[in-house]
Amino acid sequence: MSNKTKNVYVFGASRTDGDATMKNLLGGKGANLAEMCRLGIVVPPGLTISTEVCTVYTEQGQDAVAKLIEAEVRESVAFIEKEMGKKFGDSSDPLLLSVRSGSRASMPGMMDTILNLGLNDEAVAGLAIKANNERFAWDSYRRFIQMYGDVVMGLKPVSKEEHDPFEVVIDMLKEKKGVELDTDLTTDDLKELVQRFKGLIRARIGREFPTDPWEQLWGSVMAVFQSWNNDRAKVYRELNDIPDAWGTAVNVQAMVFGNLGDNSGTGVAFTRDAGTGEDLFNGEFLINAQGEDVVAGTRTPQQITLEGSQRWAQLAMVSEEDRRSRFPSLEELMPDIYRQLLEAETKLENHYKDMQDVEFTIQEGRLWMLQTRGGKRTGAAMVRIAMEMLRQGMIDEKEALRRVGPDRLNELLHPVFDPAAIKKARSIAHGLPASPGAATGQIVFFADEAEEWVRKGKAVILVRQETSPEDLRGMSVATGILTARGGMTSHAAVVARGMGKCCISGAGAVRVDYHARTMSVGGETYKEGDWISLDGSTGDVFEGQVPTKEAELTGDFGALMELTDKYKRLGIRANADTPDDAKVARTFGAKGIGLCRTEHMFFEGDRIKAVREMILSEDETGRRKALAKLLPMQRGDFEGLFREMSGLAVTIRLLDPPLHEFVPHDEANQKIMAHEMNVPLGVIKMRVDDLHEFNPMMGHRGCRLGITYPEITEMQTRAIIEAALNMKAKGVDVKAEIMVPLVGTVREFNAQAKVIRKTADAVFAERGEKIDYMVGTMIETPRAALIADSIGQQAEFFSFGTNDLTQMAMGFSRDDAGKFLPSYLKDGMYERDPFESIDQKGVGLLVQMAVEKGRAARPGIKLGVCGEHGGDPASIGFFHRTGLDYVSCSPFRVPIARLAAAQAALDAGS
Ligand code: ADP
Ligand code: MG
Ligand code: MG
Repeated sequence: MSNKTKNVYVFGASRTDGDATMKNLLGGKGANLAEMCRLGIVVPPGLTISTEVCTVYTEQGQDAVAKLIEAEVRESVAFIEKEMGKKFGDSSDPLLLSVRSGSRASMPGMMDTILNLGLNDEAVAGLAIKANNERFAWDSYRRFIQMYGDVVMGLKPVSKEEHDPFEVVIDMLKEKKGVELDTDLTTDDLKELVQRFKGLIRARIGREFPTDPWEQLWGSVMAVFQSWNNDRAKVYRELNDIPDAWGTAVNVQAMVFGNLGDNSGTGVAFTRDAGTGEDLFNGEFLINAQGEDVVAGTRTPQQITLEGSQRWAQLAMVSEEDRRSRFPSLEELMPDIYRQLLEAETKLENHYKDMQDVEFTIQEGRLWMLQTRGGKRTGAAMVRIAMEMLRQGMIDEKEALRRVGPDRLNELLHPVFDPAAIKKARSIAHGLPASPGAATGQIVFFADEAEEWVRKGKAVILVRQETSPEDLRGMSVATGILTARGGMTSHAAVVARGMGKCCISGAGAVRVDYHARTMSVGGETYKEGDWISLDGSTGDVFEGQVPTKEAELTGDFGALMELTDKYKRLGIRANADTPDDAKVARTFGAKGIGLCRTEHMFFEGDRIKAVREMILSEDETGRRKALAKLLPMQRGDFEGLFREMSGLAVTIRLLDPPLHEFVPHDEANQKIMAHEMNVPLGVIKMRVDDLHEFNPMMGHRGCRLGITYPEITEMQTRAIIEAALNMKAKGVDVKAEIMVPLVGTVREFNAQAKVIRKTADAVFAERGEKIDYMVGTMIETPRAALIADSIGQQAEFFSFGTNDLTQMAMGFSRDDAGKFLPSYLKDGMYERDPFESIDQKGVGLLVQMAVEKGRAARPGIKLGVCGEHGGDPASIGFFHRTGLDYVSCSPFRVPIARLAAAQAALDAGS
């Protein structure tokens, strides 16, 4: 009778509606639970309410949702009952459920899970009898009230120090009883906790804890939908570019219990190492534990494999005897379960052909899988796993290239601690190497304060007992994270790896005192604001600031880079002003320099004096005299660049910024300048006033300088050509490209080109020797883009200066955009910062048009980009599609650009 859309999908041993392809509808968790069932892996049965229902919730509210899905949910719960042989709401042998959120993209810890749903005062008694374990039943009950009270009823801490009101009640009871661990609490204690929790809820919320299982279930389902819009979920989406419109699915699943005694447990595992990428099955578990106990980091977890356990013991400085007796691996403790787990993880990795992050629970000797997903990993792990899977024949070259997020390469390009400095540094503590990297910063203990300090320009290390999802923003701005508790799969560790942020977890010797704002270790106390350094690859914590050195492009990283060359079409050049920059760029694989900003050479050392002398000169003769002093220095710079880039093109831009940038604007420095130049202060002041412009960005700069003062262009050309000839004489293969900035008319270009050619010819005549060079222009004013055909008849190459092109096309300056751009981005006025990623629909059209016109005027004209956008992966995709020859970016972005260019070519080809 109905062709109504399906909103609820079941999964289990006897029937499964969904599969892994249905992530958009079922969320990642739901789709993968279904897929695991299809693969014959043992999973507790359940149902998934689709993400479309979340949209109904957001738009029409909970009554509409209840009406829409009530019948389907009841039918599906009946399915779970049948699979488990228990009834939901039956107080003698209750079926308990978990309610779990799951959006398309995995959002670890973002949305709260509710466990043990269905318990009340009657059912707890039934459960106690059925499980023959009263303590377990009451512990499950108090956990349920805790989670439900927090997530559904909204009982939140009243102060930062309180952290979790339920935990405060637990701590009070433990203190009263004189015990230290939760596990020391007796059944009677747990009964008392249940009463106290209910009382706390009544007092603070003004409502009774619901006893009806169905009321509990609906409350939880709605809370999951509601949580899609909570602050931390929003922050995560913002940080990871996940659209608000996607919504979350809700999974309702039969509970299995890892807390039924010593043959039960729960854990998390990775098919490969998420930190380094090593092909080693690894993970952690806790005996007699439930749910989030592993991730919460409150107990020291044990390792799954023997090898992992031995490595852990070494890092944690635990002796082999201690390890075997107190922290044995799952492999040793439950060899059968271990074998099943190994089989499941192998099956999953081979099936998904990617590193998996799995969650499992062991209930009285039986293994249940609770989740699988593509594991979050560091940039280094991303590269190693992709290249190793390629060698193992699991994926092909194209897939290997696609597996690495270009921006994640940043992490591999970060500096590492200088080994020499490490030897001298004082190690004060040791923890687990949760996420690699080298971090130096000042200690802060609270996430919101980390944000505050960073806003003030400080580098901070966030030190916590353990982290929780509330700390996300603080973690994202911190240079590094140190926690006293928690293992390799704790919240801090997982999130830090996802962010590619240096993290050491579980540094057990560290005592954190939030009230005193101190951290003490080995008898010494460190205050908020003290400097420490973290080595996320070894787990070492050092006192003070440890110096760093540059990273290198070797091993799998190097191999991946070679692979990019096989597939990309765009050339990658670097923006470099000094021979040192050029050298770095070349080792990272730059094929030339796309932009040398000559003005940067004007600031160094004594040169600024000569520049200022030129600026102060009253006439051409005076300017020429000053310029003559600059000539040998510029020539030397260019010689260095040509040498480093032998065989590759070097594009040199003539002087671009307004002259006022070279003179001091405060009186103190003007006095110094007056003294140095041996002129009265008044003269300096007058000249500075003269140079003042209302809008320097649109003022006397670019080729306008060279046109009003041709002697500057002359000097720079002479320096370039003489340097080229000198280097050629030394066997260097010089490919010089001279670039005129900020052209808006053909005559401007022609006027500058004439000076350049005339000067070059003069040098050739003096030397009796010639060299090939090119004269081209930047396309960075909208007018230049509009008349690119006539400019193209004159210029031998175009380089798009997309920074200026963006500000002139958008009509706001990059330096002033800070006043409104952040709120514009927040309100969705622009999707992305147009200075970060090119505005393809607007500014991009100017580029496209200029490309077409330029090519029509001069077939084969060389076309490149030298703005910041040259290093942005999304923009690189656009430049590839637009048909440019190359992009140029800062030396440290060259590897990122190479990968982005390869991915752009693959995307265009598919
Ligand atoms: P997250 O998305 O934050 O990882 P999950 O929905 O995976 O949240 O739930 C967190 C933990 O709760 C799981 O790792 C698992 O240990 C536990 N859990 C969830 N559902 C069940 C269940 N049906 N039976 C037992 N434990 C469960
Ligand atoms: Mg999970
Ligand atoms: Mg410019």
